[in-house]
Amino acid sequence: MEHVVIIGNGISGVTAARYIRKMSDKRITIISAESKYFFSRTALMYIYMGHMSFEDTQPYEAHFWDKNNIDLVQDYVQKVNYDDKTLHLAETTPIHYDKLILAVGSKPNKFGWKGQDYHGVQGLYSKKDLDLMERNTRNAQEAIIVGGGLIGVEMAEMLLTRNINVTFLIREDRFWGGVLPLEDSLMVKRHLEKHNGLTLRLEEELEEIVADEEKRAKAVITKKGERIPCQFVGLTAGVSPNVDFLKGDQLEIERGILVNPDLSANIPDVYAIGDCAQFKQPNGQRKPIEQVWYTGRMMGETVAQTICGSPVEYKPGNWFNSAKFFDLEYQTYGWVWNELKEGEAEFIWKNDEKELLLHFIFDKESHEFKAINTFGIRMRHEVFDHWLNTNASIEEVIRNLKMANFDPEFYKHFEKEIIEAFNKQFDQNIKLAKNKWWKSLLPQ
Ligand SMILES: Cc1cc2nc3c(=O)[nH]c(=O)nc-3n(C[C@H](O)[C@H](O)[C@H](O)COP(=O)(O)OP(=O)(O)OC[C@H]3O[C@@H](n4cnc5c(N)ncnc54)[C@H](O)[C@@H]3O)c2cc1C
Repeated sequence: MEHVVIIGNGISGVTAARYIRKMSDKRITIISAESKYFFSRTALMYIYMGHMSFEDTQPYEAHFWDKNNIDLVQDYVQKVNYDDKTLHLAETTPIHYDKLILAVGSKPNKFGWKGQDYHGVQGLYSKKDLDLMERNTRNAQEAIIVGGGLIGVEMAEMLLTRNINVTFLIREDRFWGGVLPLEDSLMVKRHLEKHNGLTLRLEEELEEIVADEEKRAKAVITKKGERIPCQFVGLTAGVSPNVDFLKGDQLEIERGILVNPDLSANIPDVYAIGDCAQFKQPNGQRKPIEQVWYTGRMMGETVAQTICGSPVEYKPGNWFNSAKFFDLEYQTYGWVWNELKEGEAEFIWKNDEKELLLHFIFDKESHEFKAINTFGIRMRHEVFDHWLNTNASIEEVIRNLKMANFDPEFYKHFEKEIIEAFNKQFDQNIKLAKNKWWKSLLPQ
């Protein structure tokens, strides 16, 4: 019987295993060093904050794996021999595969900062990192976070719940400046700064971490020469594919494992999915490496079909994402770049007091709707997906915006204001939509 071996029990590896099992009776083994059972990485912060136990983050009960005839091995794969299709592990005997799926995830970036390996200095990615953070922050009062992305914000929220003051060092002149446009970034910054104990330092870079005689971090020195005392340093300047152990002269690796549209690598019977995969030809405007939860799940489903004999290409559809900056909800549909691109126009509506912002992007000439960022307002995915797929105009989107909104109360208050602001800015005369065509789009 064909043996499918998956390295990595994160969302992508586990989804692949589940779908292969749905479609076949192949022998399936998942190997992972981090934990025996699959857990939700996105929920790690809630363990630290005391809202969940580690067991609560595991979507499947222990008997699920037996019932579905999926073998779990908790061990570290040191080397893959592609010629005889064998995996060499740290503790257990080698395992032979017929088909190999690499679903090995990411690791936090470290850019060779002086002092980055001192005690009390760490990233946040794995369960081990979480346990280390628990120990590292036990007696801390002041923390520095280097890099202001989504994981940095989560780390700050975690630390503040333990009354540890947080200073962010952010290289750019605005928060998450590589991703968010100026207005959006300012809204997030204002929201973050409302939290007592949190300070944002923009255009400030880490030069060096200073330690005591026991090699425990006690301060950072910035590029501008300032010394900031601290007992904990969080390194959250992004993540990159965790592929060092796979490097050699056989598997094609650039930043991630290079894959074709069906997720196959350059070696026969080897595939890569999730955070560690890098598309040779990215899909439309999508990035070659996608490091989000739902894309890992989609890649897992896709590779399962290919392995079970119905090869398909990875087709993730329109880009979307969502996150929370403390209490401020953020969603994005389509591509809102940090700067407007050639040929794009924008319409921004915001209410600073209520922390609401809608940032629409559309084509300057044709008025085709391209993308939206929303803050403080939750929108319906299926409605925006429909608008993007049908090349709806910005006027159609504005007129029917109510249909995309989850919260009817919001529209009672702001609908007229948004439409009037749009009409004024673009010299239009849009009126509210009255028909109910959109109802067919919503889940019944
Ligand atoms: C704190 C945090 C919060 C996040 N929040 C969000 C969010 O809100 N929304 C979102 O979309 N995304 C979020 N992400 C990103 C998301 O969690 C990842 O994109 C996703 O988990 C990647 O899944 P994966 O299956 O590709 O890899 P992983 O989940 O990283 O799984 C890979 C596994 O392979 C194991 N492994 C690697 N090498 C070996 C080896 N040689 N031998 C054995 N085992 C090995 C690793 O130990 C790991 O367990 C967050 C990430 C973090 C760290």
